[in-house]
Amino acid sequence: MMETSFDSLRITGVKINYFFICKRKLWLFDRGIQMEQESERVLLGKLLDEYSYPRKKRRRVTIDDLIAIDLVEGDTVREVKYSKVFEKASIMQIGYYLFYLKGLGINKKGIISYPRLRKSKEVVLTDEMISELKEAMKGIEEVLTMPSPPVAEKKPYCRKCAYFEFCFG
Ligand code: SF4
Repeated sequence: MMETSFDSLRITGVKINYFFICKRKLWLFDRGIQMEQESERVLLGKLLDEYSYPRKKRRRVTIDDLIAIDLVEGDTVREVKYSKVFEKASIMQIGYYLFYLKGLGINKKGIISYPRLRKSKEVVLTDEMISELKEAMKGIEEVLTMPSPPVAEKKPYCRKCAYFEFCFG
């Protein structure tokens, strides 16, 4: 199901997520310019990920070194997020996991958990989502084959982005 070009691009869930947040961020991340580790927000997210659901067994399930699912429980895959600010990106990321698993003959549904907000959202892989994911994968291919990063366009969340100084400093 996965075309060769997508395989060779090694599209991870993070790349799908970044495609929907900022194409420049996606390009920078892909080129190994990774400043996210220093971001307090990302650290918070990681801590949340580690300490939410301590009794759940199957945490951090990695498949083909491409997708890393936070939790797998029965017919559900769960992704833990810090906030709803990038909900569309989160939905597409977990949708990509469901799509990838479907390609392996495994049908699951997704849940995005926001432990801090005590909320969760169910994600079902629909035909519309599959079309949107395929478009995104083509878009990622276009972005990642660009010789230089897409131009920085200021967005409301740029100030909280780890690349802010790099883009606008
Ligand atoms: S600072 Fe803004 S433009 Fe630059 S990578 Fe981050 S989100 Fe994209």
